This record gives sequence, structure tokens and C-alpha cells, in this order.
Amino acid sequence: MGKVYYTFFDTVSYLYSYAGDSQQSFDEKTAAAAALLEEYHQMMDIYHEYSGLNNLCTVNKNAGGQPVQVDPRLIDFLLYAKELSAQTNGKMNVMMGAVLAPWHEAQAAAGKDPGKACLPDRTALEQARAHTGLSLLEIDPKAGTVRITDPQARLDAGAVGKGYATEMAARLLESMGGEGYVLNIGGNIRIIGQKPDGSGWRTAIKDPFHHDSQYAMYLELADTSCVTSGNYERFFTVEGKQYHHIIDPDTLMPADYFASVSVIAKDSGLADGLSTALFCMDYESGRALADRLEGVEVVWIFLDGTQRHTSGIHPLDPKDSE
Ligand code: ADP
Ligand code: MG
Repeated sequence: MGKVYYTFFDTVSYLYSYAGDSQQSFDEKTAAAAALLEEYHQMMDIYHEYSGLNNLCTVNKNAGGQPVQVDPRLIDFLLYAKELSAQTNGKMNVMMGAVLAPWHEAQAAAGKDPGKACLPDRTALEQARAHTGLSLLEIDPKAGTVRITDPQARLDAGAVGKGYATEMAARLLESMGGEGYVLNIGGNIRIIGQKPDGSGWRTAIKDPFHHDSQYAMYLELADTSCVTSGNYERFFTVEGKQYHHIIDPDTLMPADYFASVSVIAKDSGLADGLSTALFCMDYESGRALADRLEGVEVVWIFLDGTQRHTSGIHPLDPKDSE
């Protein structure tokens, strides 16, 4: 019926409907979802402030100071992100901003002048580790305030924010009667409902070793989301070696267990946060965590190309997927 493109969270995104909505209804629903995504983007932004809005950048600036009044939706997000961080044993940690900031700076500097690319200072990273505790984030839902108690600690919503916002947009679309929609928010895929004939949506997991052109697995999915964390998504190069953007909280270096980890789960926020967490832990620990969680399926692609997946994953024959 329709497809619209946007830029959210600095990535190419689209909303797509394959069911029977009229053009007018499609336009109304996608405009509402787009507006909501933009609001979440602003609330979760750690780099910029916006006039009249206290966002994560504001909360970070006030670390060690007074509680900051924020939108109730940001409170809900932080409660969610903190809980998920705890559930993953801090492998995905929303309070890792102090460690991630030097990595973001190194990446940005390498982007400006690749010849001068260098790694963050090891001592600075080690020192930052002391300022990443989840307990440093105080959330007061009644007062509607957030406070970081340690002046050097920082929030970073990068691992879970986009998926959470995607989930909120999907729920809004559903509440407006949207059926048969696909949201692809910078690669975070959330499918609402199924096709009118009862079948699912064909999607593919990229081949991490040929991510521009090839796929490693095809799946038919309905009413769920699929989020991938991969070592090929964002990286910079120092002395011929690639350093990507997902940092193992234990080594403080880019995690090197897998080339990619994909999570299929209905809640797109969970899928996003979990894909980052699983990317930072060995297969056995990740498999145990995935098996403990209801409705979560995972595809792991190892650095040598080996694939493993949980029992609810049913890959399609590539021949049927063209
Ligand atoms: P994507 O870029 O595809 O959204 P992720 O969902 O894996 O990838 O999130 C990566 C971002 O999350 C990084 O850019 C960084 O800001 C943040 N991040 C990296 N490692 C971690 C981690 N272990 N825990 C929490 N946040 C992280
Ligand atoms: Mg993630």
C-alpha cells in the first residue's frame, strides 16, 4: 500500500504497509509513528540538548548534581533499560557512557582523519570503569526525576534506545488499528501482524563477511522483531586492524566472540538490548540466557562463519526466498 522513508537515530529508516489500509489512513498512521520516533530520538540524545526539553544529555550534564525532571516516557525507558542491563549482568549496560565516550571520540576522530586514527587511552578506559555502576542511576518515578549520583558517570542509550523507540512506535500503530506494517528503523525490524493470507514477512540476516551483498539466513517472521548487532556495522581502523562499536564491559575493548548476533523477539526493545548483550558474551552463557527468556530466539554467526541458533529458528531454503 505504501512506503515512506525517514532518517531516525541518524540512520535510514522506513515504514511499510503491505495490508489493506487506504492511502489516507497509511499517511495518518505513519506520520504519528514518525513523530513519536523523533520525540524519542530527542529524549535519548546524549550529544545535543533541545530547547524546552530535558533529555539524556541534560541528565548527563547534571551528573553529581540535582535530580532532573524529565518526560514520563523517558522515566519508563530508563526503568526498562536499567532492568534489562541488570538481567544481562551488565553485558549491556546503559550506564557505560564513561567508557563509551572515549570510544565514540576515537571513532569520530578517525572519521575526520583516518591517517591519525588511534585507540582510546587504556588508563582512561580503566579509570572510567569505576563509573559505570547501575546503582549510580537513581530514577524516581513518583517525582518524575532522574539523577546520576557520580559526577563522572554517564548514560548511553545506544544499545537499546532505537529498538525501544521502534517498539513504542509499533504499539502506537497497533493502537491506531495498523495491521500488516513493517518498521525498519535503521536495521531494527519490527513486524506488526501478518500478511492478509496469513503468511509472514520474509526477512534476511546479513552475511557479516559480505554484508553489502549477501545474506546468511532467510526467515519468515510475523508479529515479531529482528535486531542484529554486528562487527561490520560501524568501525574504524588503526594500523590495519578494525575496531567496531560494541564494547565488552569486561575487556573495555570491542567484543570479539562473534561476527554478528541476531535476536528475534516480539518486543523490539528487548531484541535490541539483548543483541548487544549477547554479542558481548560467549556462546554458552548467551545460550543459557536466551533459553531462560520466554519468546526469544537467537542466531549467532561466529568469527569463522559458523552459525548456531536456538530451537525456534526455522531457516527458509534460500531458493524459495528470491
Ligand atoms: P546499533 O548501532 O546497530 O544500534 P547496538 O544496538 O549494538 O548497535 O548498539 C551499539 C551502541 O551501544 C554503541 O554505539 C554504544 O553507544 C553502545 N554500546 C556499545 N557497547 C555497549 C554495551 N556493552 N552496553 C551498552 N551499550 C553499549
Ligand atoms: Mg542493541
